[in-house]
Amino acid sequence: MELWRLPGHRLRELLGRGEVSALEIAQNHLERLEAKEPQISAFLHVNRDGALMQAGVIDDRIRQLRQAGEDVDAALPPLAGVPVAIKDNMCTEGVPTTAASKILRDYVPPYDATVVRRLREAGAVMMGKANCDEFAMGSSTENSGYFPTKNPWDPTRVPGGSSGGSAAAVAAGEAAASLGSDTGGSIRLPASLCGVVGVKPTYGRVSRYGLIAFGSSLDQIGPFTRDVEDAALMMNAISGHDPMDSTSADVPAPDFTEALSAGVSGLRIGVPREYFGPGTEPGVDKAVRDAIALLERLGARVGECSLPHTSYALDVYYIIAPAEASANLARYDGVRYGPRAAGAVTVGEMYARTRAAGFGPEVRRRIIIGTYVLSAGYYDAFYLKAQKVRTLVKRDFDKVFEEFDLLATPVSPTVAFPLGSKVADPLSMYLSDVCTIPINLAGVPAVSVPCGMVDGLPVGLQLIGRSLDEATLLRAAYTYEQYSGNGGQVAE
Ligand code: GLN
Repeated sequence: MELWRLPGHRLRELLGRGEVSALEIAQNHLERLEAKEPQISAFLHVNRDGALMQAGVIDDRIRQLRQAGEDVDAALPPLAGVPVAIKDNMCTEGVPTTAASKILRDYVPPYDATVVRRLREAGAVMMGKANCDEFAMGSSTENSGYFPTKNPWDPTRVPGGSSGGSAAAVAAGEAAASLGSDTGGSIRLPASLCGVVGVKPTYGRVSRYGLIAFGSSLDQIGPFTRDVEDAALMMNAISGHDPMDSTSADVPAPDFTEALSAGVSGLRIGVPREYFGPGTEPGVDKAVRDAIALLERLGARVGECSLPHTSYALDVYYIIAPAEASANLARYDGVRYGPRAAGAVTVGEMYARTRAAGFGPEVRRRIIIGTYVLSAGYYDAFYLKAQKVRTLVKRDFDKVFEEFDLLATPVSPTVAFPLGSKVADPLSMYLSDVCTIPINLAGVPAVSVPCGMVDGLPVGLQLIGRSLDEATLLRAAYTYEQYSGNGGQVAE
């Protein structure tokens, strides 16, 4: 049986009924992974032995439960046996973690990120560490310090970024689900371009303890899955307060699977006109508008709205995110982290050589911008002003959410672009995130859900919700998925 075609909840169901073993699920996905990797390159590290061992432990437990005459299905945790991939900027105990940077080439963390620990506790089996843009800076996964990942629907195209490996692994059937991080769109953009579901939870909903920091006021971890039900299960596993992350919200997380089938009748959905700019490809525009029309036929009340400060969001982001990155990346200095460059005479020279050898061009660019906007004389003009405009962007959302429960927009103005087409032009690469960045500035949750194909390439619908209201987001996404028939697809 081609188990790799099935979403996580189906695999868990078969395991609970004793129709397959965890080892069969893991082996089947490892076979698929080995067949697809030469073409896709989604993984920086395959955790083959670890995955088989984890699966073996689950099967032992099932045997014990059976012998004790217990109800296996009821006793197993919710993601038991489900193969997952982890973006390589999240710490995994004893398993290499590089953030796709040469500067962390030999780093093996002594601890698990909270999300990784929670997935383990939920029974998920870790297939490996997924490729990404170096330190999550990029929109195509071409900024990886190792190799680019390819789009499973068309390997001449990018999977999106920065969590491109996580999205491609799920789209190709190499894992049933994965984790990514989203600072300006890095979950939603690759989800959209790879035709899978991607959730950027509310800032603070999911612990970032053990996430290699990029922009600390923006970073958030979230899941990739092939359908919305799996997204809700993954959200259940990773959400909730963590005393190890001071920014994690101390509020209980609901059971996200509960409200899924409540429908969209009466939900007020706003369509912000600024998100359908002239750069939006006609095919994308049509797919997204068709999706909104379907939600309306299903009972949602749809109306146009405006987020007037949208056009400033990209500029604000490219001040705040690099500023925070320049501070966060100061620790890679050849002393605390990073292989130390040889031959330096002074300490300053050692830092400079280590960092020049370890960081790729995009990371260096961000550090230079960030250091500049934080330096004396420029701080007020750039950083402080950006913070003020960020408040205006956030207020736009507060205001529209007085009138609407959700907003619907494209995720990306275009479908997956050809590999190499934007690497020489950072600005055009930055523009891939026009529809996703404002959401990070505001801290609200959003989901990308597949809404059709244009010329064989997937398009994503972005639904944006109120702070901490992922339940409504997932419910609308689930309703759309059920009626559109767009869920659950795997790229052959
Ligand atoms: N593409 C954006 C950037 O390069 C967002 C990245 C992200 O969300 N991690 O900063």
